[in-house]
Amino acid sequence: RQAKKVIGVQDDLKLTVNAIKVLEARYLLKDENGNVIETPRQMFERTARYLALVDIFYEDDIYDKEGKQKERKIDVEEKPEFLSIWEFNMLKRAFTYFSKEGYMKVDFSYVLDSLKSKWDKIERVKNKFAEVMLHRKYVPNSPTLMNANTKLGQLSACFVLPVPDSIEGIFNAVKYAAMIHKSGGGTGFSFSRLRPKGDIVASTMGVASGPLSFMRVFDVATDVIKQGGKRRGANMGVLSVHHPDILEFITSKDSENKVLSNFNISVAVTDEFMDALLRDDYYPLRNPRNGEEVKRIKARQVWDLIITQAWKTGDPGVIFIDEVNRKHPVKHLGEIESTNPCGEQPLLPYESCNLGSINLSLFVENGKIKWDDLRDTVHTAVHFMDNVIDANNYPLPQVAEMTRRSRKIGLGVMGWAEMLIKLGIPYDSEEAVELAEKVMKFINEESHRASMKLAEKRGVFPAWEGSEWWKKGMKIRNATTTTIAPTGTISIIAGTSSSIEPLFAIAFIRRVLDGQELLEVNPLFEEIMKREGLYSEELMHKVAETGSVQHIDDVPENIKRLFRTAHDIDPVWHVRMQAAFQKYVDNAVSKTVNLRHDASISDVEDTYILAWKLKCKGITIYRDGSKNVQVIYKGTKT
Ligand code: ADP
Repeated sequence: RQAKKVIGVQDDLKLTVNAIKVLEARYLLKDENGNVIETPRQMFERTARYLALVDIFYEDDIYDKEGKQKERKIDVEEKPEFLSIWEFNMLKRAFTYFSKEGYMKVDFSYVLDSLKSKWDKIERVKNKFAEVMLHRKYVPNSPTLMNANTKLGQLSACFVLPVPDSIEGIFNAVKYAAMIHKSGGGTGFSFSRLRPKGDIVASTMGVASGPLSFMRVFDVATDVIKQGGKRRGANMGVLSVHHPDILEFITSKDSENKVLSNFNISVAVTDEFMDALLRDDYYPLRNPRNGEEVKRIKARQVWDLIITQAWKTGDPGVIFIDEVNRKHPVKHLGEIESTNPCGEQPLLPYESCNLGSINLSLFVENGKIKWDDLRDTVHTAVHFMDNVIDANNYPLPQVAEMTRRSRKIGLGVMGWAEMLIKLGIPYDSEEAVELAEKVMKFINEESHRASMKLAEKRGVFPAWEGSEWWKKGMKIRNATTTTIAPTGTISIIAGTSSSIEPLFAIAFIRRVLDGQELLEVNPLFEEIMKREGLYSEELMHKVAETGSVQHIDDVPENIKRLFRTAHDIDPVWHVRMQAAFQKYVDNAVSKTVNLRHDASISDVEDTYILAWKLKCKGITIYRDGSKNVQVIYKGTKT
């Protein structure tokens, strides 16, 4: 077998070793023999160019946002040499949609000609997109980097599929999920419409087997797909707290992660339930088949089970579904029942959303936030992500239709913990919570502004009329613009702390893809310790024993204060930080409240209740060591 050539490593982007490893394994294009055939720089440029091409459709002589000219035909056109086959196909696909919807004044050959004559314009957009990615100021979600200008062409991370109460409907959903997983996306489902276990099945005079049994089918299907080795496949399973099978659902996961291992599960909790809980009252379970009340149980009984089980295994999380729907900007299109796998993106059935994140750690200079640069990056990101909606090769026609109606995008952040450290602000402080609101408010408002600017030229999203935006008389291109994703992989690519999470460990052992173990020291900690003349390899190994510096005498107090890890920080601050960001996020916030192994059941309860009080849209905890399989191990000694 031919040895693999690693050309990514000699790249000039100054990526970390981990970033190169991840990119090489799953992102950089390869030939049939598995040889990497592009550098990280080329990957970003491929992505930038692919998305910039979309701009041609919004040139004045081509686009008609009033939709006056309909029924244009597509000429059978030869692919011009300067386009790759996948770029050509993407443009044709987008053109077909635009002309069907009546947004095109011209035929396809005109578009291709314009591309040539207006290439300098496209090039400028490409450079703008490339610039933010090459500096890792902004990184789109993984499928965009993996699939831009490829045969697959599927660019989004998040999908929600409906699961109707019929065998045909259920197995269609299994099939649809398989197609989405194959393309690199994650799927969320609500199983709340399925009739409960033991209920009647009229057509066969048989007995229904209930949501849990069907979830196992989805789980096995996910296992089998494995997404061509790129991604494992991820699902969210949601069940309403009013479903008769709710108790079985809550206890369906185990700490060995053997059952439903491809699912995160969340209980959709209603205001009705929370009210009953606070009054220590009973609440109704209803059969979704006919809406009839089956029985009433103590809300406390169900709540205690949720909390205990989350303490034991990390699942279930909770979605405050009424809060989600209250804040939903396109209520006239339907009600939200589920989120994507990590919880940050509530979506309607068949909706999808592309995400992307700004690396906040890069927006600090001399102890100050670079607001102007941040504003520019937000505007570029929104432009980029709006183009993703047009360029995307949707895995299903229903998804294409729903997604294009609301044109939701989800711009978020990563590197928040590192931004705070650079500013000298401890994560668990009032100052940090205030700054979180300030920064996210800025990003949210600027993203709305950017989307409104796009609307002037490109028109509002097709389902705008009747939306909350319409009620406020605000013309906007995207029904939502902001989402805080976990940034599990893209934060590694960017070389910063993930999402809005505190540092997980100051020094730790990372298990990498090939089973190797690497010692990693947080670069900011390393820098500060070196500056103080306190750095030594030996000390770093000592830190890696627990991941925390709080009990290490050789680290000065002021540095300790700044470098508190997820487990050093009281859960209250985790939730308050989540809530601070949620306040200025259109969609939701993915946050794991990391608890120490010795956290009590009532710590978990306090966390969930606080999240509800602070108007979070959902909450997830993870108690250290509660699952046998963990991605990151904090310390060499535990
Ligand atoms: P990334 O850093 O790779 O862009 P995130 O960790 O931010 O991804 O996750 C964002 C979303 O991407 C998740 O909520 C989920 O919808 C999807 N996703 C993440 N990992 C997977 C996976 N292994 N398979 C399918 N979808 C995934």
